[in-house]
Amino acid sequence: MDTPTRECCALTDCPWCSRTDIACHYCDGEGRWSPERPVADGNGMITWEWVEEPCRMCAGTGKEHRHLPLD
Ligand SMILES: [Zn+2]
Ligand SMILES: [Zn+2]
Repeated sequence: MDTPTRECCALTDCPWCSRTDIACHYCDGEGRWSPERPVADGNGMITWEWVEEPCRMCAGTGKEHRHLPLD
């Protein structure tokens, strides 16, 4: 199931959401990413599994959201 990218993140007047020329480099503009997450298997062992979720770095917008102010 494809989830379309969101238009904006939670910020109003976000300078990053108003730009369309830079794709989020974490999710390549897809708005979804697949980070690894640790999972305890019940025997005290930690394994890693891939999860797919809305990209946290761009809030699912697919647009670059750096933590640096724009020039
Ligand atoms: Zn934004
Ligand atoms: Zn992203």
